[in-house]
Amino acid sequence: MPILNENFLNLSQRYLFQEIARRTADYRTSHPDADIISMGIGDVSLPLAPAVIDAMHRAVDEEARQKTFRGYGPERGYLFLREAIANGDYASRGIDISPDEIFVNDGAKSDTGNIGDLFSADNKVGIADPVYPVYVDTNLMGGRPIYYIPCNEKNSFTGDIPQIKLDIVYLCFPNNPTGAVITKEKLQMWVDYALDNDCIIMYDSAYKAFIRDDSLPHSIYEIPEARKCAIEFRSFSKTAGFTGIRCGYTVIPDEIRLTTKTGERIQLNKWWERRQGCKFNGASYISQRGAEAIYTPEGLAQTQAQTDYYLHTASLIRQCLESLGLHPQGGTNAPYIWAKTPEGMSSWEFFDFLLDKAQVVITPGAGFGKAGEGWFRMTSFTSKEQTECALTRFKSCFPGKNLQNR
Ligand code: PLP
Repeated sequence: MPILNENFLNLSQRYLFQEIARRTADYRTSHPDADIISMGIGDVSLPLAPAVIDAMHRAVDEEARQKTFRGYGPERGYLFLREAIANGDYASRGIDISPDEIFVNDGAKSDTGNIGDLFSADNKVGIADPVYPVYVDTNLMGGRPIYYIPCNEKNSFTGDIPQIKLDIVYLCFPNNPTGAVITKEKLQMWVDYALDNDCIIMYDSAYKAFIRDDSLPHSIYEIPEARKCAIEFRSFSKTAGFTGIRCGYTVIPDEIRLTTKTGERIQLNKWWERRQGCKFNGASYISQRGAEAIYTPEGLAQTQAQTDYYLHTASLIRQCLESLGLHPQGGTNAPYIWAKTPEGMSSWEFFDFLLDKAQVVITPGAGFGKAGEGWFRMTSFTSKEQTECALTRFKSCFPGKNLQNR
């Protein structure tokens, strides 16, 4: 008799974006002529940069010829891409990461979820609330106890350093969903906590390409000694519009150790390599050649122009929400804007209200955790024209109102 891993029963029935899709589809069925604008899901709208397209075309041509055809590649990624990452993302900022510490993948979602394979159910896990849901769901699947770290206006959405000893802590900056960023000083406090408590930080910097304030850390390895305690997850999805292409990477420095029950300290990246060798067959050659092109001078300029575009739409959203008195957070070094729902509505009430009154889809804050109740998230990934249209409709729901005194 096949028996369920009952940890799955602890998951909510639907992943947040499936629930949003269901409600939107129901609305579309009952309002077939509605022109719905999605400001909810974090998917990009600009096409790929020309440098990336050219590189991928060349890669397709190689695959078309007997002499240059490639089948399975190395599970941890081609050296050409790992070298481009080590130089372009780390050496260029004075950080020493070797290509052998980099694992190329098919996007950060897989690795932020799969990394849990290496951790026993005995680990105590600290996860920010609100949060990108993957960290919570995959730790629930692994049966690990979760301690929520409230992120709110009081701690600038960067969480208070825990008073208890945790074994793993997930941090994400620039943050999804709040758009918050972390200063070097605060990140130093998290690294100190991890070093003092033999804790590993899972640092998700999928949105680092949106940082424009150079005093902010782009990588956790800008903090001294973070190599001893942090794994970093990165993605080309939002950096360069790779949501459909699928490519990202994970950095596991050689110093990171896990302890066995007998007290032996083992090197985590060796076991991650073993795990990947078994369960992953590598990202496609074509997407890796595309990702490599991001690091060329043309690729860098073109992809920065894309993130500049999204940051501009983020500023339009911020201005609109500010004018309504909704105290928006984020959106200056991040593509997400986080704001309080108006007139005391719950997150899902506001979702339904806006869908009905303005045919605009936002993401209800409650979907990111308990602390997200009473908040909502908007993304800057929709086109400027669509965003302007959505904001006009949004404002028309509250004619002449400034909602700050609710
Ligand atoms: N990490 C965060 C914080 C995200 O918001 C997302 C996607 O929305 C991901 C990781 C996953 O990105 P990818 O497309 O590389 O799987």
